[in-house]
Amino acid sequence: MGAVQRALKVLRGRPRDRSKADGLAGRLKVSLRTCSRSLGDSYDSYLHVGTGMLKFSFDRSLLEKVTGSRERVNLESFIRELAETMSVDYALFSSTRAGVVVPGSSVKGNVRSRLELSFVPKGDAVRACFVRSSQPILEPKPGQQGWRHYRIWRGSLEGHRPACTCVEGPEECEVCLLCDIFGTAGLKGLVSFSDFVGVGTSTVKLDLPYNEKVEAVPPGSRFSGEVYFFNLKPEELGLILFGMGLSDSRVGRPVLLGKLKYRRDLPHIFGVVRYELESLELAPFSKGLEVGSSSIAPGSVVSGEKLDPLVKDLVGAAKQAYAEELIEVDEVGIVGSLTSGV
Ligand SMILES: [Zn+2]
Ligand SMILES: [Zn+2]
Repeated sequence: MGAVQRALKVLRGRPRDRSKADGLAGRLKVSLRTCSRSLGDSYDSYLHVGTGMLKFSFDRSLLEKVTGSRERVNLESFIRELAETMSVDYALFSSTRAGVVVPGSSVKGNVRSRLELSFVPKGDAVRACFVRSSQPILEPKPGQQGWRHYRIWRGSLEGHRPACTCVEGPEECEVCLLCDIFGTAGLKGLVSFSDFVGVGTSTVKLDLPYNEKVEAVPPGSRFSGEVYFFNLKPEELGLILFGMGLSDSRVGRPVLLGKLKYRRDLPHIFGVVRYELESLELAPFSKGLEVGSSSIAPGSVVSGEKLDPLVKDLVGAAKQAYAEELIEVDEVGIVGSLTSGV
């Protein structure tokens, strides 16, 4: 029922020193692909990551008539005519000179938000803030904006967790674990995400109900990018992987990304993707990585099936360090089970 969120104590401390190398540093090569039955997934999914801009299309000859017109009466009728012929064009897929991309900021936001929501309170305290939330929220009724999101993540959303800020400067502020790792206002993060660039990926134009038109990539589309990390502990590197849906191997479980990901009333499924770790490389100045049965020397690279036990060890370290606070939510399964009116 529409209860107000209860107030929680967000566990905060001084951000760690960014001026010296102390911990794990290096780079993950990661790919992201839309789920496809032909690749053994249970879903065929499209993906739309927009530019946030809508393009309009209209009859240009009409516009010329309007701009050439001096008579006010004519102008009004032309504008009316123009409005009638105007339509919203396809919402474009995000792109750069490299081609279609899922922007690094979108990937980072996706991973971070999954982690925020995966941290549940222990008593009245919680390890992570909601960096984009300032006001308590009410549970939306079915059909209202955000209700599916709320249903999926109810266990976390029941508590109000105001965002950390560091505008006073890193010597003054206190932040939660995720703000220390991912950054917040006034504090640079310890991880950074490159754009994820389409690999042989092309878009298709889809006409959806209610005149919604999107450019999307089809099932089985692949994007590739990099995640740089600095001054992390093994369990924190494990947390990054957990935030991508990885757990027991280098291939993650299906997770949700992008626009339309909560919609199940459309002719297509959108936003069901898997992350896959392609390699893990430690910088020469990094500490060595010792976790579980894995031992990785500074300056070396791990790739292929050797990543499977490493991912398991790293995510295992995170689950152990944040035991009872970290939940693994089957967001794709839950959204599939929700129908409006329930
Ligand atoms: Zn969300
Ligand atoms: Zn925070």
